[in-house]
Amino acid sequence: MNPRPIEIVGGGLAGLSLGLALRRAEVPTTIFEAGKYPRHRVCGEFITGLAAPTIQRLGLAPFLADALQHREIAWFMREKRVRIQSLPSPALGLSRYVLDARLAEAFCAAGGILQGQTRIAEAAAPAGRVFAMGRRRGRPTWLGLKIHAIDLPLARELELHLGDQAYVGLSRIEGGQVNVCGLFRRRELGAKGAGLLVGYLQAAGLGELASRLNQAAFDPASFCAVAALGFDRQVFCSDRVQLGDACAMIPPFTGNGMAMAFQSAQIAVDPLIAYAQGAAEWPETMRKINREIRARFRVRLASASALHPYFLQPKRQQWLSLLNRARLLPLRPLYAALH
Ligand SMILES: Cc1cc2nc3c(=O)[nH]c(=O)nc-3n(C[C@H](O)[C@H](O)[C@H](O)COP(=O)(O)OP(=O)(O)OC[C@H]3O[C@@H](n4cnc5c(N)ncnc54)[C@H](O)[C@@H]3O)c2cc1C
Repeated sequence: MNPRPIEIVGGGLAGLSLGLALRRAEVPTTIFEAGKYPRHRVCGEFITGLAAPTIQRLGLAPFLADALQHREIAWFMREKRVRIQSLPSPALGLSRYVLDARLAEAFCAAGGILQGQTRIAEAAAPAGRVFAMGRRRGRPTWLGLKIHAIDLPLARELELHLGDQAYVGLSRIEGGQVNVCGLFRRRELGAKGAGLLVGYLQAAGLGELASRLNQAAFDPASFCAVAALGFDRQVFCSDRVQLGDACAMIPPFTGNGMAMAFQSAQIAVDPLIAYAQGAAEWPETMRKINREIRARFRVRLASASALHPYFLQPKRQQWLSLLNRARLLPLRPLYAALH
């Protein structure tokens, strides 16, 4: 019997890594992607919690081999450096511009069909179709902004700054550049590009960081923005397979969304191969994947959602600050719960 084909809607990290693993098992695979490559994406561009079994099962090592390894995070609360956190395992620094394009190229080289600039309606979910179309739209409250800075000195290779209804990550990536990416409560500010990001920093009480950025040069083509981020949407569904952000979006402060996209692809790959080879039917395949996704991510998502307001709201940030000063902030257990 010829293997049954798999269709993937969305060529981000979940879709591309899954597609590549399926092609390596000779499953006929098509990815429908609304955009094209390479492209910049709103993302902090540091990956935490991506463990060896996921890298191995998806064959990701060649694509991550030159990623920078960040071992410490410098935390800033309202301009003040409050903590240097050592990470249990290094966070990987690599731009989405490079990573997504590498995966797309490898998928095509492995015989996958990549239909770029093709948007698929979400309604139909026939057998063999997997949804990996990224973040769901939420309320218009939150805005994500990002840009690559060219000559920006850092306290550590990874900095995280908490402001008023905002937080911002600075992560060193390839070519000596620094990815500056923030989550902000939406305001009416009349600027564009780097100027808009600087305006948001000032409005969030992060004036010193804004001044540092004012002295840096930028790659203007790397600027991008995304509105209406739906952190509160978790869709553990049973009537279709949804991977990565399409299933649930973990708050960005964790730096774990990309790892979750890969992990969800890892969960799906063997059941999809069994389906393609005729060893399982579609309803049972969906059940298996969805059960495993729920089991793996439910507690992590709940923990991240509960903590998220403490990174955004000034009153709750004071609690974090107090615990930190008293050396009572349980960073290791928190890291373990969020990864
Ligand atoms: C402000 C912010 C900062 C972040 N920082 C980090 C970080 O530092 N570290 C980290 O690990 N994660 C971070 N994340 C999260 C991370 O970016 C996502 O978790 C990750 O990109 C999810 O991958 P994905 O494959 O599920 O979706 P995506 O990478 O979003 O890919 C989905 C793809 O589907 C395509 N698509 C959508 N709809 C359709 C359709 N109907 N038809 C065809 N194609 C479609 C899109 O064009 C897109 O290419 C951050 C997110 C935000 C918002």
